[in-house]
Amino acid sequence: MPAEEFRRHGHELIDWIADYFEKISEFPVLAQIEPGDLKAALPASPPQRGESMAAILADVDRLIVPGLTHWSHPSFFAYFATSTSAPGIFGELLSAAFDVKSMLWRTSPASTELEEVVLDWLRQMIGLDAGMSGIIYDTASVSSMHAIAAAREGVEMRIREEGMSGRKDLPLLRVYASEQAHSSIDKGIITLGLGQRALRKIPAGKDFRMDVNALAAAIEEDKRAGFLPFCVVATVGTTSTSSIDPVPEIVPIVEEHAMWLHVDAAYAGSAAVVPECRHVLDGCDRADSLVMNPHKWLFTPFDLSVLYCRHMDLLRRAFSLVPEYLRTPEQDKVRSGSDYGVQLGRRFRALKLWMIIRYFGHEGLAARIREHIRLAKLFASWIENSPDWELMAPVPFALVCFRANPKSHAAADSNALNEAIMHGVNATGRALLSHTKLNDKIVLRLSIGNIRTTEEHVRNVWELLNEQLHVLRNQVSKS
Ligand code: PLP
Repeated sequence: MPAEEFRRHGHELIDWIADYFEKISEFPVLAQIEPGDLKAALPASPPQRGESMAAILADVDRLIVPGLTHWSHPSFFAYFATSTSAPGIFGELLSAAFDVKSMLWRTSPASTELEEVVLDWLRQMIGLDAGMSGIIYDTASVSSMHAIAAAREGVEMRIREEGMSGRKDLPLLRVYASEQAHSSIDKGIITLGLGQRALRKIPAGKDFRMDVNALAAAIEEDKRAGFLPFCVVATVGTTSTSSIDPVPEIVPIVEEHAMWLHVDAAYAGSAAVVPECRHVLDGCDRADSLVMNPHKWLFTPFDLSVLYCRHMDLLRRAFSLVPEYLRTPEQDKVRSGSDYGVQLGRRFRALKLWMIIRYFGHEGLAARIREHIRLAKLFASWIENSPDWELMAPVPFALVCFRANPKSHAAADSNALNEAIMHGVNATGRALLSHTKLNDKIVLRLSIGNIRTTEEHVRNVWELLNEQLHVLRNQVSKS
């Protein structure tokens, strides 16, 4: 594409994106298409001849946009609501232009060194100690998998060299996580060939936090059975309720048994950017590794997950493999990203995070996260003060778990009622909520994390919820 044409289409596209954000509230949050609609509208075979950018972009409007669920919509409250931001988009744009494969220091010194610097900034912003150094992966699932691999390397059982299958000398290796831990921990264990039985789920007690007595007892029991407990995964900000495992109480147990402590702070790590919320990472100065996702709650376009690790040597030992064609004269003096994971080539993700931190500043980021927490607590106060609704879990961050109070209406099945309310709200296209199950009860989740969400959006979804409840209640009383 000649430079002049690139410039023209580039300007058009930036205008298109600016318009998209300006009118984003007008789109239905949830895609309004049926499964298969888009596939049916697209040609089954590729074009033989190149097409104009105008034709391609017209199809973005005509075909792609209607098939989008708009994560950047300010009334997107589902899952963990996340959002991109202007400096993040610019960072992605530049990174696509540079297209470096940041595998060795020399294949992109800027990417390698900027990553080290920007992750050290972020470390300072969330109050982690200087013993932790960071590495960027795509997702928390991959970060946690690498952390568990490093922990396994630390058991000194030559697993890298000899594997795990067919070995009589290898006891069952055990990892412990609360029953509320994210499924990515299960998947990491499966991927590493440890087998699902290697993961022992510890019951969560009050407020959905790991029961530390149950953890201690499980480790003792496993040791008596001849197993090898080697890693505990604690979660700060669980997926269902954002509960916080008691890390300071888990630390002595882990230390007593010389195990690795990995903290999954994928969601809530960002909250520690707010100085008065730093305590949520209490105890993490004793953790061996911690994952946090700027792509969840730090206005960073997907994807960017950070693994902080105190033993980069073990991570390196688990993964470094330098064939002749990748050997460089400086390799002993510099860091090369590919030494610390399964990937060889790596995207220049640090660029967007650097631009975001510089554009907003620590204060700007903290102010936005603080406001999200305020809005969540405000919403929770409406729930608490209403006879029609009940709060189902504490609200330490910006996620509210709640449901229609079955006592206040005649519905026979409160799970069905709450599902119907959620689907009713979502079908309006004016907001999007998701759900979870706690103690066999369907619970609605309202997550606030979008940079464009204001109090007005939260008030609107509250009205929508009450409207839905009203409609469903009338239906029940008529039938
Ligand atoms: N850990 C927690 C606590 C999460 O909530 C999630 C996703 O929501 C993950 C891990 C996985 O995140 P990712 O999509 O980055 O793999």
